[in-house]
This record gives sequence, structure tokens and C-alpha cells, in this order.
Amino acid sequence: MNTIKKNLEIRIYPAIAEKNDKGEKLANISKIESNIGIYRFIYNKELEFINYFRNLLLQYGYEDHVIVNDTSCSIILNMLRQEYPFLEKAESSSRQQSQRNLILAFKRYDDSSLKSNYPVLKTKKNQKDTFRIMNNNDNLRIQKDKYGYDKIKLPKLGLVKFKTSKEYRELLRKGSNPDDPTVEIKHITIKKVNNEYYAVFNITELYIPQEIIGPRQQIGIDIGCSKLASLSNGQEIPNLDLTTEANKIIQYQQKMSHTQPGSIRHNEAQRLYNLWMKKLVNKRNDYYNKVTAYIVKNSSFIAVQNENIIAWKHNKYLSRKLQLNAPRIFMDKLEYKCLWNDVEFIKVPRNFPSTQICSECGERNDNMSGLRNLGIRDWECPHCKTHHNRDINAAKNILNKGLEIVGTTVQ
Ligand SMILES: [Zn+2]
Repeated sequence: MNTIKKNLEIRIYPAIAEKNDKGEKLANISKIESNIGIYRFIYNKELEFINYFRNLLLQYGYEDHVIVNDTSCSIILNMLRQEYPFLEKAESSSRQQSQRNLILAFKRYDDSSLKSNYPVLKTKKNQKDTFRIMNNNDNLRIQKDKYGYDKIKLPKLGLVKFKTSKEYRELLRKGSNPDDPTVEIKHITIKKVNNEYYAVFNITELYIPQEIIGPRQQIGIDIGCSKLASLSNGQEIPNLDLTTEANKIIQYQQKMSHTQPGSIRHNEAQRLYNLWMKKLVNKRNDYYNKVTAYIVKNSSFIAVQNENIIAWKHNKYLSRKLQLNAPRIFMDKLEYKCLWNDVEFIKVPRNFPSTQICSECGERNDNMSGLRNLGIRDWECPHCKTHHNRDINAAKNILNKGLEIVGTTVQ
């Protein structure tokens, strides 16, 4: 049986108190903060130890290659636990996960094809505020507290309040039920972003093919700039208007640059900047989720051109719009939703001249090449005299090319 991996990100609200009125243990802010700290501490201490050993090897004329693996790191971790009793406060799988990250960092460094840098200490500047807990023996789950509300139970830490959609809640309930084999919670990552706490559940779901309701279409999608996307069936999806958010972001960005870092005014500007940034990202994600869900629900096959988005960014006329409307995020959402819903997803190569070919007769119109002609919205094929909308014609060509790649023809 196939399984699909999903990451469900949900907002959590850790309490300040250690226990609720009915005496249940709560995963409060201080516990979560200390776990984040311990995660970083173990990583750094182990890395310091390895660095020390590496220097010793160099001093005595050996090669500086230190073998970093589970066995060697576990010995260091055991020594650290004896030296620093506060490490016992952290959940055991979280301690191990920190060291596993370090081992991974060394593996990447040793792999010459990846060209990764030597692992560095996690400082306040370069760190991500996270820690991860593995689900051993179904200790990590959703359960009702004594008041009857759903809470996340973090092993060793306690209960924490959360908010999420019906769909996610249902998945997590299934994952928490040991008798239900369809969903399994693998691990959870707790992270802190802009003083807000989030939990990312990593789950696997049994793949059950869905029945197709109604006729589904084969769709080609041209990801544009003035529009979010044009579909080969003639539909056009407009860009989201993010001007208010963008203006606010620029305003507070300027305020931050005009005030002293650390001052009250600077902090206030920083807070509002983060707030509007969050608003923009949420609004955009919400819109993209709705649009991609709609497209995927009505399709059986989707072909998208893997546009050279980086090259667009160097074009000064396009870059501002692109940062507001992130086509890459749109593409990624489309791709994973296709995977979840059993819709075939094909990326057409970048170099395929989708805008230059006539979708009716297949003749190439060289007047349409290059970024210079982004202004041309409509054109007439000199060969068969068909009148084309630039983007819809491109979407049709992308669909044909996608079908050609998988070896079928238009039905
Ligand atoms: Zn033509």
C-alpha cells in the first residue's frame, strides 16, 4: 500500500501556567523555550567537542577527518547529560534529534557532490528556533483534556492548546487513534516565528484512490506575471491585490531603517513590519490554496511550464510583482495537491517556446520571442490566420507538449 507524507502546520498557544485548574500538566512557554535552548545547546556542545578533537588530530599530524556517527555522538551526549543535569528536562527523542541533525550536517559536509560548508555553531543570529519530538509508543497525540477540549499532548512536556481546520483536526484525530491504521503521526517540530509558536506534524496517510466525480479535464497552465495563471480551457486567474500590505511593509521597513536598533520606536516598527508581512503571506497562501484546490479538483492531468523564474527576477520591470505574487509557491502547491489527489502532474521544460507557437497549426511566430514582447497580449498567426490570446495560446501549447511527454494525445 502506498502512503503519502504530509506536513501539517498549525498554530499553538502555549499557556503561561504550569498546570491547569484540574491539575493537568501544560506544555507552557517556559518549557518550550527551554527545549528550544536545550536543542541548540546539545548541538553546539557536541560540535565544540568534535572541533576540539579535530584540532588535536591536526596538532599531532593526523588527517583532520573525524568520524561523526550515532555511536560517537551518543557517548558525547551521555557525558553532557552527566555534566549538565538540566538536559534531563528535555524529551529524550528531542535530545537525540538534535544530535542527529549534527550528524546529518557532517554527512552533507563529507559528501563532496553537495559542496556543503563545515557545520557551524548555532548562534542567536543564524539559528532557527525549533525542536523536534519523535512519536514513540503513541506518546505524541491529540487528546481531550479534563474540560473536554482537544489538546496536543507532547510527551514529557504536557498539553498545549491549538487551532486548526476541520480537515487537519480529523487527520490528527485519526493519527492519535492507535486502532486507525490509515494515518500515523511520525514526529512533531515545534517552532517559534515572530514570537508565535507553531507545531508542524509530520504524518503519513494511507493512499486511497479517490473516485472521480464528473468529467475531469486535461489542463495546461501558463504561469504569468500580469495574471497569476492562464488555463488552456480559456480561464484566466487574476493576481491577488496585495497593494495595501505591500505599502505597509515598505512603510515600516523605512521606519526601521530610520530608527536606532533596540529603541522602542524601532521595536514597534519591527513588530508592525512582522505583522503586515504575516498578513501578506497568509492572504497569499489562502488564495493559492483555494485556486490550486479548484484546479486540481477539476483536472485529471496538469501540465505546467517550469518557467525560468530566476531570469524574470533580473528583469527590473518584473521583479516587484513577482515578490508579491510568488509563482514558485503557486507551482509547489499545485504539485503536491496533484500528488495527494492522484492527478498526473507534468513539468514542461523551460526551453520549450510555448508563447511562440500557434496552437492551431503548430507554426512558429518569431515575432513573439524574447521578454521584449511581454506587452503583446494578442496576435494573429501569419500562417493560419487564427487570432490568439497570448497566454491562453501558451497554455494550450503547454498542455500539448505535456501530453506529448507522457505519450498520449488530446482526447
Ligand atoms: Zn496558425
